[in-house]
Amino acid sequence: MSQISSLLKFIDHNPTAFHVVANVKDTLSKAGYAEVKESEDWKLKAGSKAFVTRNSSSLIAFSLPKGKTVKGFRIFSAHTDSPSFRVKENPELEFSEYLRLNVEKYGGMIVSSWLDRPLSIAGRVLFEGAKGIEEKLVNIDRDLLVIPNVAIHMNSDINKGYQYGIQNDIPPLFAQGKKGSFVKLLAKETGIKADKILGSDLFLYPRQKGFVFGAGKEFAASPRFDDQACVYAGMRGLLESEKGTYVNVLALFDNEEVGSGTKQGADSTFLEDTLYRICDALNMSRTDYLKAQSDSFALSADNAHGVHPSMSGKADPVNRPILNKGVVLKFNGNQKYATDASAAAFVRSIAKKANVALQDYANNSDIPGGSTLGNISTAHVSIRTADIGLAQLSMHSACETMGTKDIDGMIALATAFYNM
Ligand code: ZN
Repeated sequence: MSQISSLLKFIDHNPTAFHVVANVKDTLSKAGYAEVKESEDWKLKAGSKAFVTRNSSSLIAFSLPKGKTVKGFRIFSAHTDSPSFRVKENPELEFSEYLRLNVEKYGGMIVSSWLDRPLSIAGRVLFEGAKGIEEKLVNIDRDLLVIPNVAIHMNSDINKGYQYGIQNDIPPLFAQGKKGSFVKLLAKETGIKADKILGSDLFLYPRQKGFVFGAGKEFAASPRFDDQACVYAGMRGLLESEKGTYVNVLALFDNEEVGSGTKQGADSTFLEDTLYRICDALNMSRTDYLKAQSDSFALSADNAHGVHPSMSGKADPVNRPILNKGVVLKFNGNQKYATDASAAAFVRSIAKKANVALQDYANNSDIPGGSTLGNISTAHVSIRTADIGLAQLSMHSACETMGTKDIDGMIALATAFYNM
């Protein structure tokens, strides 16, 4: 049975990277994974299952093989963040008693897709609590904001293309009245007194819930398919694999949409530190750790561009994924994707055994493509890596489109990978 409705439900619960981590944590805990902290000693033994988080927005989970020796790692990575608008400090902008919220871009979204639709705010708040500085997740779970377009009568050229200015065009309409409503609302929603709030990471999110469409229910549309579809597939693969002989690792990184260069991003030491800590807790030597690293493999999973019916000329003439036709294996001559022949051979052999359809992606040679986690994280932990993903349309829109069948292939591939 297709897993698309469980995926849509998962995404609907996760308006921000903080919520992704909280929900994955919760699911893993229920499946017997223990939380370990970077600031404490780790007590691990054969068969241990655990996870560690950094900044509450990145998470690495691992399960150790039942046998004594550690041959190497099987790492599946994906990213927890999606493009959005971040609420700035001092967020109220006043104009004739309209209050709008002062926002800035987080990542590269299709700006127009955020207008004239219900939006709200989610993220985390830090506050002065009984135990010092504490943190709380927040999701204002109602239609709170709209970014209204200017009428076509006042902007008659809009259909010839319009460049939205983020500072002036995008602040969403929030309230009518005097300044002070935002902090009052935040206090009410979090149950934290306004004068105890010390900081926040808050983002806009579209209220649109994911839905299935098409004559044969072939398609689904939802916010944040990129990259929560791969997060979900990796998590399911980890939970469903039973018999692996490697250390299975699920690495979920924040900040891919802004270049990964943060303490919790793929360009940090988080993965390297975690793999080393696992080996150290098992009393392995540095040489044993390096030996394990050399017999390791990573799947970097991030969504891919399906060929678009109205702009097929933007795609490669041959290596152009189609929705519902399988997991995408990505190649790039300039190594923006880490896949080489040896990594591709490895993935194709697992997919064949697991009966998972694969299709290939390469950019049109005249159009530079995006980048992702694979080649960034292999610069820190140098292991053989393949970039994979799920074909989708409208990447970085407030509502993206995928095929309903592909998620099943990605879960099956992740499970087979972890079962090696
Ligand atoms: Zn992505």
